[in-house]
Amino acid sequence: MGLKFKGFGGSGSFPHGVHPPERKNFSGAAVIEVIPSPGQVLLPLLQNVGAPAKTSVKAKSEVKMGDKIADAGGFVSAPLHAPIAGKVGKTGVCTLTNGRHVPAMPIRAEGEQIEGKELWEKIFGGQWPKNADKYSPKEIVDAIQAAGIVGLGGAAFPTHVKYVPNEEKPIDTVLINGCECEPYLTSDYRMMLEVPDPIICGSLLLAKASGAKDVIIGVEDNKPEAVEVLKKAAAGTGIQIAVLPTKYPQGSEKQLILAVTGREVPLGGLPLDVGVAVSNVSTTAAIAGAVVKGNPLTHRVVSVTGAGVQTPKNLLVPFGISIGELIEACGGLTKDATRMVAGGPMMGFAFSDMNSPVTKGTSGITILTHEDLKKEDETSCVRCGRCVDVCPMNLVPTKIAMASRHRDTELAQQYNIMACFECGSCAYICPANLPLVQLVRTGKAEVIAAGKK
Ligand code: SF4
Ligand code: SF4
Repeated sequence: MGLKFKGFGGSGSFPHGVHPPERKNFSGAAVIEVIPSPGQVLLPLLQNVGAPAKTSVKAKSEVKMGDKIADAGGFVSAPLHAPIAGKVGKTGVCTLTNGRHVPAMPIRAEGEQIEGKELWEKIFGGQWPKNADKYSPKEIVDAIQAAGIVGLGGAAFPTHVKYVPNEEKPIDTVLINGCECEPYLTSDYRMMLEVPDPIICGSLLLAKASGAKDVIIGVEDNKPEAVEVLKKAAAGTGIQIAVLPTKYPQGSEKQLILAVTGREVPLGGLPLDVGVAVSNVSTTAAIAGAVVKGNPLTHRVVSVTGAGVQTPKNLLVPFGISIGELIEACGGLTKDATRMVAGGPMMGFAFSDMNSPVTKGTSGITILTHEDLKKEDETSCVRCGRCVDVCPMNLVPTKIAMASRHRDTELAQQYNIMACFECGSCAYICPANLPLVQLVRTGKAEVIAAGKK
């Protein structure tokens, strides 16, 4: 079908990277299902990069779905809204899938719930304008901020922050990220196939908000059906679709910008430094919902996938529902399920607490089996240099890992440890099975702790 990259200034790819098995077959064909409304949700007050939200309702208050229950804790923060109708309980603590313990507000379901088809219609149904004429840039950014929208690709960075006007660094290109390069995960893929209109509408709204003249949606060439659907939905809008050769981590912000526009974000810099703003396709659909329908962000699509779950699915779920309930909705675990990962196997976090709640950043749950995890034991570094060859940030992972092992924060910083975005390419390729990403994570924590002393 001739899915070739059409140049937008870039070559269509980025240096280095890896080709892990894609494993999208587990849940790629599963149409998004709306999970039944749960008996209760437990909403972590920290669901975004930046400051946690501050509760704005008291225990025992009655709330309807969509009511604000916590204010943003600062500019780089996002408010929270009730994903179900019910009674607010006393704020306690929950364990996130990354192991952090954070305050969380329970809501026990009471009264009539919006669920099933009605919920789907509320979030995705109706007409989506194919222009942004009705809205001013300020109205768009204000609606995004009020709805509590954060990056749904997993980063959970508050979206309004990227789009507030900045005269010194104007944005000329909005890049919508439909790559979903992480193995196994298919929630963005299903969104592109099933609800392309809000994605297109949200993309146009972001262009208006930022003043960008170009809007490009980047999709990898392993998703030809999504490309065709988006092209059809975007017809006549001026939005262009960039079809990119599949390579990991194509969906990471800096690699995507380089591949599509040829612009290189400087080390320690931001997309804004090269005139680009990047948002993920699911985030873009949520933006359309916030601006056009006034919908706060209360739900998201989560892939529950892998050989360790009975029936892999893509589920539309409320924030705060437990991961155990998602797995139950997929028929439970298989006998050989061995490890639960929040996200995919490259960048995800292994976790064990089924009570951990879904947050705005939960794009998927991957359940791996013993077979998937079969790996040789760790040996010494053989100095093969493969980790250096694949690092998309041009780092020297083996040296960073060594510095981290020796708790040498100065040396780790000399090797630019903080520029690592934990893509996992180095660990994937390492023949010595060194836990390079874990060592980077530990090293970063040491650097941050040293900076606080
Ligand atoms: S050092 Fe960081 S950015 Fe480089 S390959 Fe390893 S995890 Fe990815
Ligand atoms: S890939 Fe592994 S064995 Fe090879 S140099 Fe890097 S850390 Fe050492």
